[in-house]
Amino acid sequence: MPLISIVGAGRVGSTTAFMLAMKDLADIMLVDIVEKVPQGEAMDIMHAAASGFSANVEGSNDFSKMAGSDIVINTAGMARRPGMDRLDLLNRNIQIVRSVAASIKKHAPDAIIIQVSNPMDALNYAMRKAGGFQREQVIGMGGMLDSQRFSLFLAQELNRNYSGQKAGESVVRPADVKAMVIGEHGESQVPLFSQSFLKGECVAGMLDKRQMQKLVGMTREAGSEIIALKGATFFAPAIAITSMVENVLGDRKDVMPCSICLENEYGQDGLSIGVPARLCREGLDEVVDLDINDEERSMFDMSARKMKNVIEEVGL
Ligand code: NAD
Repeated sequence: MPLISIVGAGRVGSTTAFMLAMKDLADIMLVDIVEKVPQGEAMDIMHAAASGFSANVEGSNDFSKMAGSDIVINTAGMARRPGMDRLDLLNRNIQIVRSVAASIKKHAPDAIIIQVSNPMDALNYAMRKAGGFQREQVIGMGGMLDSQRFSLFLAQELNRNYSGQKAGESVVRPADVKAMVIGEHGESQVPLFSQSFLKGECVAGMLDKRQMQKLVGMTREAGSEIIALKGATFFAPAIAITSMVENVLGDRKDVMPCSICLENEYGQDGLSIGVPARLCREGLDEVVDLDINDEERSMFDMSARKMKNVIEEVGL
């Protein structure tokens, strides 16, 4: 069975470990600097093994236990505290990413790395630079989560458009909508109506301008809304990470939005940002050049400019 290490046994890390174990995708090594927590989380998950999974889940404070990992998922990081601005948070989390990159380099240098902690795009870039990893090896998760949210909101809106339904009946299921969000995993994200489909048909023609603007705002604000309600978001992120893991382990090459260190794709380089990509057993297979419209391209260019400024501000 493959081995997946998860750095950071907090809410996202432990929920992802549970999800991966339930799907029996790999043995899991949960590592964290805080004593007892990864061991406790692993034990709790293992107590569900009798339900039918054979994956082994272990917790440790010893980073050398990552040795032999096929994939390392980095969820280690701190959340923004009162009085801390975005750059303060980034500078703190860059230090954490540098220490995680050094551990991966030492113990699991060939692993595919899925960067999760925020601000994810800048930290994905920092991870690659700090560890000197191949760009194919380092992939950020953010667009998958944003796209899941966009799919849900599109399905809900399209249901409102459908006049033949009975009260409470859902004609369009979120899983019927394949949506795509690229750009920053953050405020300048770009939901692509031109590349989002309901059962194969582009949704762009099914919505008016007002509906589209509303959905863009809802998708952008979705994470903050949950954080305001319960302090963190981890169930949907764990599913998004799991989809990426399934693509890597299964060499599936589905097109999914991932943060990638670009080398002139979409006219950009020297940054990591969300783009449509295919994942395979070696990590990134290819960045997919989708035929996005002029408005979407100019929004993506703005998002890329913002990411470059952030990288320059912190001297990455
Ligand atoms: P959390 O505070 O519950 O967990 C973070 C864990 O990281 C803690 O257990 C902490 O001890 C650990 N940690 C800190 N420094 C470490 C180090 N140097 N080595 C190992 N472990 C270390 O936070 P969470 O809710 O699980 O969120 C984790 C991160 O993921 C945050 O940055 C959050 O913003 C981000 N996040 C990203 C997405 C996304 O879509 N990319 C979605 C949700 C959350």
